[in-house]
Formats: sequence, structure tokens, C-alpha cells
Amino acid sequence: MLNLDAWRKDIEAARERLQGRIRPTPLRRVTLSSPRALPIWIKPENRQITGSFKLRGATNALSLLSAAEREKGVVTASAGNHGRALAHVAAEAHVRASIFVSSLVPENKLSHIRAEGAELHIAGSSQDAAERAAREFAAETGQAFIPAFDNPAVIAGQGTLGFEILDDLPDAALVVVALSGGGLAAGLAAALKSRRADIRVVGVTMERGAAMHASIAAGHPVEVEEVATLADALGGGIGADNRYTFAMVRDLLDDTLLVSENEIAAAIRVAAGFGETVEGAGAVGLAAVLFEKISLRDPTVVVLSGGNIDPALHRRILAEAA
Ligand SMILES: *Cc1c(COP(=O)(O)O)cnc(C)c1O
Repeated sequence: MLNLDAWRKDIEAARERLQGRIRPTPLRRVTLSSPRALPIWIKPENRQITGSFKLRGATNALSLLSAAEREKGVVTASAGNHGRALAHVAAEAHVRASIFVSSLVPENKLSHIRAEGAELHIAGSSQDAAERAAREFAAETGQAFIPAFDNPAVIAGQGTLGFEILDDLPDAALVVVALSGGGLAAGLAAALKSRRADIRVVGVTMERGAAMHASIAAGHPVEVEEVATLADALGGGIGADNRYTFAMVRDLLDDTLLVSENEIAAAIRVAAGFGETVEGAGAVGLAAVLFEKISLRDPTVVVLSGGNIDPALHRRILAEAA
């Protein structure tokens, strides 16, 4: 059984560890105009250091390693943003980091990982292949594997975002968040619901490769084909041996739903209209609100989870203005 009290304590402890190491991202009130006119609140984690909320989980997980583990170094597999975040916190702590990615990860994300001084390995053509290679490497080298989502320290780190939302807006009624492996949604929902049982949390994924959505529908983790999408950060499976996030997402989220590539592109444009640069994965929640896939409550908060979009792609999407 899910113990929300225990999660609340873990997330509170994570918040103390993150103090001064992450950037505050206060809620912003924005009014959407097209295609739907309404006021909402956004949580702009696209402005977080390293360009996504992933810094939270990576910082918490690295803080919890022993001195002996840090001495050896850390390994992960990532769709890009977790790798960059882990590379960043590892560099700050003078810990060696090896990041495994698939050939689907966009070039801008690779160069950010390299710029942090991490060792970058391109392994296979899917997130799952990169994950297998990373786990083998960790087993061979004895280095600590820090997963992108299915790990209590990572989940608790991402959950800190939920407490920040309630600090800014104690009566938040609905929070809409991007969903892939579910570390973000699980931590966020645990944080919110441990304080306010009545708050609704909805997870949003792209239609093209929605592994968690399909797994919830099936009642167990299932594989979906990984294909190119604007929401590249949401690609990859949830792991056949998923231990934490599947059950948490199933039990804590009020709904999960899907958005199309066109809807994601429209949301990227709307976000740019109110001054936020968001990547596809960071825009799926906004897309669900804009295209009326969710019954809104007042007040509604939409998490903009990341901003690491390739600049040329961003310009192209803005130029397509509908
Ligand atoms: C990783 C990521 C997500 C999804 O997070 P999960 O914990 O895998 O569900 C959403 N948005 C962005 C920008 C991400 O990098």
C-alpha cells in the first residue's frame, strides 16, 4: 500500500537537500487567448537550471550516495534532460558521470551533456536499448546507476515541485503535468495529495509512444514502439520490472490522457506568446488544456516541465503559426 505520510517526509527531506541548489520557479498567472481564452497558472520549470525539473531528482539522488559511491562515479540512461541534470550535479560534486543515450536524442541535448564534462555514450536506437547498455556498464564498473524515474530518491526530488506549488497557491484545485516514466507525476501527486486529499492531478503524454498510459490501461507495464515525436523527452518504456512509478501513477493520478503532435506544436506557440520557451514534452499539459481535453477547475496549474528545445526546431514551429 502506498504510504503518503512516508512520501511526504521523504519529499520534505529532499526539499532541504535541494535548498540553494535549484532555482526557484514561482508560479505565473497567464491568460490564454487562442484557441481558448482563460486564465491559468504555470509552473515554469523550463527556467530551471539545466532547463528542466530533472535537476531536482538528480540532485537528491546524488546527495544520498555515500562517499565511496561518489568516488567511483555515476551512470545513467536518459532521453536527454535527466542526463544533463545528472551530469551537472555530478560535475559540481566532482563525481565522474557516464550518460547513455539512444540515437533518438536531439543534438542540442547531446551537446549540453558534453558541455557538463560527462562521458557520453550513444547506444542503440531506443531509450530501452540505452538503458540496457547503461545498466551493463554500471554492473561492470561497479558505479552507481541513477535511474531517470523509477527510484525513490528521484521521485522524492521531483516531488519538491508539488510543495512549491502549494506554497504559492494553497488552494490549487487541479495540476496538469507531463507523464513519461512517471517520476515527475508520482512525486508531484504524492506531495500534493499528502497535503490536500481533494486536489486533482492529471498526467498528459503524446499519442506517439505513450508507454505509461498504455500500461495503466493494460493493468501492467507494457512496451510501446518508440517513434519520433516533438515530445522527445517523453520517449521510452516504463520498464517491465517497474517497482515504484507504475503503482504510484495508477493510484495517485486522477486521469491520464493523450495529445497529438499538432496540439503540442500549438502549445509551444502559445507558451512562446506568453514568454516561455518550452520543448514538446514541456508543452503537453498546456496542449491538453488548450484543446479542452480536461475539465478545468479554478485555480488550475499547468507544469511546463522543460525548455530544452532545439532552437532551429523552435523557430520552425513558431513560423508555422496557425
Ligand atoms: C523527463 C521529462 C518528463 C517526464 O518525466 P517522467 O518522470 O519520466 O514522467 C516531462 N517533461 C520533460 C521536459 C522531461 O525531461
